[in-house]
Amino acid sequence: MLLKSSFALFVVLLFLSGCAADGQFNTEKAVQIGAGALQATMLDEQSVMQAAALTAKELDAKYQVAAANSPYATRLHTLTANMHNYDGLRLNYKVYISKDVNAFAMADGTIRVHSALMDLMPDDQVLAVISHEIGHVKLKHSYHQMKEDMLTNVAFQAVSSMGGAIGALSASQLGALAQGVVSARFSQSDELEADTYAVRALKQLGKDPYAMKRSIETLQQQSASNAGFLSSHPSNQKRIENIQTEIRRL
Ligand SMILES: [Zn+2]
Repeated sequence: MLLKSSFALFVVLLFLSGCAADGQFNTEKAVQIGAGALQATMLDEQSVMQAAALTAKELDAKYQVAAANSPYATRLHTLTANMHNYDGLRLNYKVYISKDVNAFAMADGTIRVHSALMDLMPDDQVLAVISHEIGHVKLKHSYHQMKEDMLTNVAFQAVSSMGGAIGALSASQLGALAQGVVSARFSQSDELEADTYAVRALKQLGKDPYAMKRSIETLQQQSASNAGFLSSHPSNQKRIENIQTEIRRL
């Protein structure tokens, strides 16, 4: 996740309540996962990927997805035309109509960009943010974040404690995973790595790698009028210095 805002917190609280206000959580999407597998050594990659794909469906139902022929979707489609199979990843993109300036990625290659972020940034900066999110997927930050959420989630542990039974990924568990994705807070080193990845990706795509730096500056300006909006971690200055260092190495 690139950043968070108070609106994201509102969404999180909705998810935490265990059922969405509009009742869109769908237990029919539940996937069966061996309850005994909910231990670090046994939670296999396929289960985490399945959980990620289901969580993506959950979020797509929760948010308003921009129609395929809308200006937002058309713009995103053009920007990502060569990036559906990229760097060994299968990626899928959608725009959420949302006032929350945000973008996030999931382990299964799901990338979501909020309309407010697209309103705020020119094409090259949006592409930089997308490249940063792809970095989280490629470098397995998203995977490890979801796996960790699955291992530490109380509801999962309750299923696991039943011992040997087959547990289903319930609506509330999906909600908890969705919350983890929307409010994900990666480590400082993960964020710097994703920035580095974006710089290299932009260069490889024939784009200006400084767009990554500019996207951070745009967010910084936005946050000036919205106290607490960008509690960046690591600091913006540290990110910008890292980006400049990486660009010099290109
Ligand atoms: Zn990030």
